[in-house]
Amino acid sequence: MARSLSLLGATGSIGASTLDLIRRNREDWRVEALTANSSAVELAKLAREFDAKIAVVGDESRLPELREALAGSGIGAAGGAEALCEAAARPVDMTVSAIVGCAGLAPTMAAAARGGTIALANKEALVSSGEILKSAVERAGATLLPTDSEHNAIFQCLAGNDVERVRRIILTASGGPFRTLTAEELGSVTREQALKHPNWAMGAKITIDSATMMNKGLEFIEAHHLFPVGLENIEIIVHPQSIVHSMVEYRDRSVLAQLGPSDMRVPIASCLAYPDRMETPLVPLDLAAIGELTFQAPDEELFPATRICREAIQAGGAAPAILNAANEVAVEAFLAGQIGFTRITAVVESTLARYSAPTPHTVEDVLAIDGEARLRARDALESTPVV
Ligand code: NDP
Repeated sequence: MARSLSLLGATGSIGASTLDLIRRNREDWRVEALTANSSAVELAKLAREFDAKIAVVGDESRLPELREALAGSGIGAAGGAEALCEAAARPVDMTVSAIVGCAGLAPTMAAAARGGTIALANKEALVSSGEILKSAVERAGATLLPTDSEHNAIFQCLAGNDVERVRRIILTASGGPFRTLTAEELGSVTREQALKHPNWAMGAKITIDSATMMNKGLEFIEAHHLFPVGLENIEIIVHPQSIVHSMVEYRDRSVLAQLGPSDMRVPIASCLAYPDRMETPLVPLDLAAIGELTFQAPDEELFPATRICREAIQAGGAAPAILNAANEVAVEAFLAGQIGFTRITAVVESTLARYSAPTPHTVEDVLAIDGEARLRARDALESTPVV
């Protein structure tokens, strides 16, 4: 029987990869809800193609456009933050959480509270509210399937093993497009250069996060929440080929690695079919053609983001939510041409130094901290010294 699926963030890069897999296996899936923020026409097109029950735009001002594009289709249309959560709460077999940023938190929580299976790509939700989201998942008996390629790799290498048996988790990082630059060269990189990831095609925000290595720092926090082996047992290693997606070292020093093409359809397929496996249209790995897999220690002098993230999760409380919000603001400012590349991490660090808040206990607490941290980060945009 066909399984039902809701896709939060249908018009994004993860959304497109997910729908590509669904398109190839139409008879196995029934699409319930598809969501976007402002891409109303594109969303309506997808909703029609996949015969969704409802399409929702986060930006309510786009609802008339969505309604018009869906006219005569019989597909429901809704708009606004609450409508996103209502869509996420509709009962389905699988929710793919692929909204970018903290905007995905409330809808992901709504899906978790309903208790289904969530393929979680939206790492910012877990970074901002790790314990809160995990408690909601536990309370409702929901299942989180890690979709981020590294965490999906770790999940596969764990293969149901208890984390007690694990000595170390090794997160691989491509190092991004600027891995080989000097500090001076890094100071003058452009938006266009930063948007060209050497191995992965992704949305703009995560591509910039990969260039600053903030992505790996966020993933360090994400790994800590998903696989509680202790922060000191999570290591980051630069692996420029992006073929080994992460590794797990067991107590006996056996190291298991997951390898695969650098294409998000692999981890997404692993979540969609879990615990089974499904076909993907990808060219199989040709290790002889790849030739070499190399590894090196990260340079935290040049790319301080992983250190900043480690310190934030060590500090705990509100710090990871503040870090995430400040990073979202700084990345937006960089993409808008307001600040240079190296100021992204400077703005994050400066916001963390200037703002502290009590430990959040609810999503509302997290969203309040997120809002305040954004204001402080915007102040920091003006005042952070150029580095
Ligand atoms: P994209 O920017 O490509 O897509 C983001 C999606 O979220 C779009 O559908 C967008 O709608 C929607 N969206 C954006 N803002 C809001 C908002 N305020 N309210 C509701 N919906 C919103 O991002 P990616 O697909 O690259 O990434 C999605 C998530 O997955 C991120 O958390 C990222 O870190 C994670 N991830 C991505 C990977 C990748 O390869 N892309 C790999 C691993 C993790 P609209 O089109 O209308 O703007």
